[in-house]
Amino acid sequence: MRIDLHTHSGVSDGTVPPAALMQAARDAGLDVVGLTDHDTTDGWDEAAAAIVETGVALVRGIELSTRHDGMSVHLLCYLPRPDDVSLADELARIREHRRTRARRIVERIAADLPLTWDDVLAQSAGAVSVGRPHIADALVARGLVEHRDAAFATLLSDDGPYYVPHYAPATSAAVALVLAAGGVPVIAHPGARMRGRTLDDEAIASLATGGLVGLEVDHRDHDEAERTRLRGLAAELGLLVTGSSDWHGSGKLNRLGENLTDEGVLARIEELGALPVLRP
Ligand code: AMP
Ligand code: FE
Ligand code: FE
Ligand code: ZN
Repeated sequence: MRIDLHTHSGVSDGTVPPAALMQAARDAGLDVVGLTDHDTTDGWDEAAAAIVETGVALVRGIELSTRHDGMSVHLLCYLPRPDDVSLADELARIREHRRTRARRIVERIAADLPLTWDDVLAQSAGAVSVGRPHIADALVARGLVEHRDAAFATLLSDDGPYYVPHYAPATSAAVALVLAAGGVPVIAHPGARMRGRTLDDEAIASLATGGLVGLEVDHRDHDEAERTRLRGLAAELGLLVTGSSDWHGSGKLNRLGENLTDEGVLARIEELGALPVLRP
């Protein structure tokens, strides 16, 4: 079984619509794919409608933007009840703040460079969750930077002059929110140091006490030493270990299926989650 539990469609910052993501998953030889757009469930139905045609099973998920001690922490949430009002309200709140914040970043850049909000809208057509990747794409379209990654390394960097943070719930509160909605909380790329500071062992242990279920260990942002550390920590704390591509279409180099999750781990996630995995 080839299981990839973390991908993005154009509903957030991926480059293809959910149905095309399902086709790409089939072409990559996946049996199961997790759709985890940033802060939204809006892509779920379109992906679900493509299950029969593609023969790929779907794990409905979300990648939640949270914050712990000033750090941005991404929390994967698998198989939650989509009609849970507290979860839906929090997602709406995060998306709303993302949009206002993206506008403010663009205003700051526009003071120095020829970039408009319309440029960003042109890059985020179809997206309900707008973020820096779309601003990056607009900068590329304007010829101001070469590609997304270059934009993040320069104009859009966290410690650059144009950066504006966005609202995000505390990671511990988000874990509780996900659990209350019947979802399965897993920390995305917990050791991705190139994105900034990361959670230390004590912080992860404390989240585990709060009901965290798993760690995404196998991810391209982790080298072997990091994977070994996280695998040890997961064993110590009784956390599940997942692996995923974090595919964003052509927006990033990540290839579908480049990291995979064990069948037994998926079975455990399905046992714990409120929704079933949708199978062809
Ligand atoms: P935002 O939530 O708007 O701050 O943007 C965060 C998103 O931008 C992440 O989920 C990634 O998809 C992308 N991202 C963050 N850091 C980088 C980076 N260094 N290079 C490329 N993409 C990045
Ligand atoms: Fe992303
Ligand atoms: Fe992430
Ligand atoms: Zn992601």
